[in-house]
Amino acid sequence: MANSRTTKTKTTTPSKGSTARSSAPKGKATGTKYVYFFGGGKAEGKGHQKELLGGKGAGLAEMTNIGLPVPGGFTITTEACSEYYEQGRKFPAGLDEQVDKALAKLEKVAGKKLGDPKDPLLVSVRSGAARSMPGMMETVLNLGLTDQSVEGLAAKTNNPRFAYDAYRRFIQMYSTVVIGLSKDSMEAMLHDLKHYLGVANDTDIPAESLKELCNQFKAFFKEKTGKPFPQDPKEQLWGAIGAVFGSWMAEKAVTYRRVEKISGLNGTGVNICQMVFGNKGDNSGTGVCFTRDPNTGENVFYGDMLINAQGEDVVAGIRTPIKLAELERLLPKANKQLYEVRKILERHYKDMQDLEFTVEDEKLYMLQCRTGKRSPAAAFRIAADMVKERLITKEEAIQRIMPEDIERLFYPVIDPAIDKKRLEQAQIATGIDAVPGAASGQVVFTAEEAEALAQSGKKLILVRKETSPEDVGGMHVAQGILTATGGKTSHAAVVARGWGKCCIVGCEAIRIDYTKKQFTVGDKVVKHGDFLTLDGSAGVVYVGELPLVKPELPDAYQTIMKFVDQTRTIKVRTNADTPYDAENAIRMGAEGIGLCRTEHMFFDTEERRQAIQEMIVADTLEARQAALAKLLPFQRDDFYGIFKAMAGYPVTIRLVDPPLHEFVPHEEPKQRDLAKRIGVPFEKVKHRVEQLHEANPMLGHRGCRLCITYPEILDMQVRAIIEAAVKCKKEGIKVLPEIMIPLVLDKKELAILADRTKKLADSIIKENGAKVNYMVGTMIEVPRAALLANEIAEVAEFFSFGTNDLTQMTMGLSRDDAGRFLPDYVDEKKAGVFKDDPFQSLDQAGVGLLVEWGIERGRETNPDLKIGICGEHGGEAKSVKFCVRAGMNYVSCSPFRVPIARLAAAQAALENA
Ligand code: PEP
Ligand code: MG
Repeated sequence: MANSRTTKTKTTTPSKGSTARSSAPKGKATGTKYVYFFGGGKAEGKGHQKELLGGKGAGLAEMTNIGLPVPGGFTITTEACSEYYEQGRKFPAGLDEQVDKALAKLEKVAGKKLGDPKDPLLVSVRSGAARSMPGMMETVLNLGLTDQSVEGLAAKTNNPRFAYDAYRRFIQMYSTVVIGLSKDSMEAMLHDLKHYLGVANDTDIPAESLKELCNQFKAFFKEKTGKPFPQDPKEQLWGAIGAVFGSWMAEKAVTYRRVEKISGLNGTGVNICQMVFGNKGDNSGTGVCFTRDPNTGENVFYGDMLINAQGEDVVAGIRTPIKLAELERLLPKANKQLYEVRKILERHYKDMQDLEFTVEDEKLYMLQCRTGKRSPAAAFRIAADMVKERLITKEEAIQRIMPEDIERLFYPVIDPAIDKKRLEQAQIATGIDAVPGAASGQVVFTAEEAEALAQSGKKLILVRKETSPEDVGGMHVAQGILTATGGKTSHAAVVARGWGKCCIVGCEAIRIDYTKKQFTVGDKVVKHGDFLTLDGSAGVVYVGELPLVKPELPDAYQTIMKFVDQTRTIKVRTNADTPYDAENAIRMGAEGIGLCRTEHMFFDTEERRQAIQEMIVADTLEARQAALAKLLPFQRDDFYGIFKAMAGYPVTIRLVDPPLHEFVPHEEPKQRDLAKRIGVPFEKVKHRVEQLHEANPMLGHRGCRLCITYPEILDMQVRAIIEAAVKCKKEGIKVLPEIMIPLVLDKKELAILADRTKKLADSIIKENGAKVNYMVGTMIEVPRAALLANEIAEVAEFFSFGTNDLTQMTMGLSRDDAGRFLPDYVDEKKAGVFKDDPFQSLDQAGVGLLVEWGIERGRETNPDLKIGICGEHGGEAKSVKFCVRAGMNYVSCSPFRVPIARLAAAQAALENA
């Protein structure tokens, strides 16, 4: 695993080895500014230039400009990275001159020179894209150290232990990150040294031993590369710049962007910054913090830090850090500075910030500032609190919430009703509560395994000593993550929080044995495949699969959703086929049903299945009508329940849609069984199933075409709808049924069915002496219907775009099978034809054109035509925004996605204003 990781990184970062000084860019400046300097209180860049400078570069520039203590440095733009790839991984011409100039300026500001044998300038080289990708790309620290300058540093600081610690870290990072040598081999040498010396912490290794370790590392480098460790700091610098650019396309970074749906970025920026040292002794340290609690959103300063350590130690989760609150006791001066910085930055950015800092000899330096990732609950609380604090407006609060935040708010917790004794008995360990929520699943120990097993639908808990960015794919598919080391800002915690995925870190009681595929806690053994439940809110680990339930929503959720509903201009309905779903959708904020798939009601019980099968097998009209009569009461009761649950909201009921063969069994034993149950010969059932067979059923005898052939199906369904509506009316329940005819392709086809519907409905209403208003409309799912929408609108009283079928038929891609190859079409490392799966996010360029055309043409005929969408896209944020722009009256989606659609509709209203 460890070796394969290194190999993976190596093969996906071809700039390695070729990024030595010899391959530094040659040529004249092109006039493009690739390098932005910051230092001495001024920065060339600005905080809003995230796209160009990356989040980190923009943050460093902004913090410099507002007078915060930031070490000097310069940022190479993301544009340079994009050109690097356009030119086949070659640095753009002119970059070298600009880097040289910026470096000279930095040397002046710092009063030190890179490579100076007596008092060397050391720099860090860090990545930073426009969107935060925590830990996914590379960093090299202490660059500029050589065999000579390390002596200078030791003499200058009078601290040889510190100097050699910095050098061994640099050799280690350069060798693994830039050259791609095995991380584990070098870590093993460090581990062996500690073992030999009998010390537990890196900080206890004396200078002489660190010097010896540097020699060991260099020998390892020579053995593996055939070359000595580079002693030219400029060669080191270009190697590191190339490695950072290369890491943009490393597998882990590409996977992260895919999972997070990040697209359209230039690449990564490179930040070269004067080093400050948190590893100078007990007056120094380094930390990561958030200006508010990223889990709850509470307005408290929150973070981890390590005394006498360098930045990567905290994030890597190698040592378990101390709480930020300890800083006041340990380094009071720096603590005061940090609190001041927190206040300034929150007021400046008007959002919760994620900060990295280093304290060198009691003096604070800010190394990073960016909008902090937060749990979904925290996202709501911070937005609502900041409106109260008058830091932001309601509109800004709405724009701050991500659709995913809502989705993730509904993650489960352990059922509070569970027997306490059972809970106590199941508990085996506690760790740090990194990300709230609960999860249960089977234990796996590697990310690869998790990815493989998740494909077969298994629920998994990924258990690791610590996670690294290579594990991101496995972390994503797992239900929860448990690590033995690390703090709340470790890689595992940061990544999992972004996804709202349950995560416990720093669970030091667990002893993992990767070879035996098990972990132990005392004498308890948990093996690969055993069930585990994590309570990420309390940091408790349980053996077994405990019952989980949906959580209570935070108050701030209601506050923000109230703003949302005041802002949006279109309605949000739901797709629901049962009274239960309808009630649930109302709780989620639905304002009607946009699609009730009536055929789902045929599957519910054995009795219903049998009645529909009998109807299909029937070979005379009378026999068919007799079977339909059995279905009538079921449908009528269901519609009654749904109307009641929707209490006056409009309910769109679609007549039967799927091809009939979907309702009958295809295997002989089941056909024999059916024949017996409905009292017909087996041959008859077999023959009917053969008759119904279609080579391409999706383009076959389905949708409204079924009712053209068998109008008695329409009669039964219309009767059930209208009789249920009449019953409601009589009971004083408001109803507004909208009868929807699916898959229409021609005006005449629709007219035949709409006329029949209206005649029957009116006669039932008349017979009952009731007053029921209803509408008859159609789905627009076939491209021809969209093209001829002006004609269709002469008959239809409303349109509902069925974009599942419309996508299938417009793109010529099977909605049932395309999933097998569509990932290649979306993967930016493969074909990258589409940014998103068109069955999930509407293909606005193609299918969207038909939707816009259909709306425009339909409203030419009937300006008041009510128009909505009921395909899966109705609950996907980008598609909802499209629907608002296109002028729809409502979107409809599954109950769970109703709040997402409400949010997206409000955001679209603000964007279009
Ligand atoms: C559609 O095609 O978009 C639709 C909603 O109908 P179904 O998914 O039932 O075919
Ligand atoms: Mg359809």
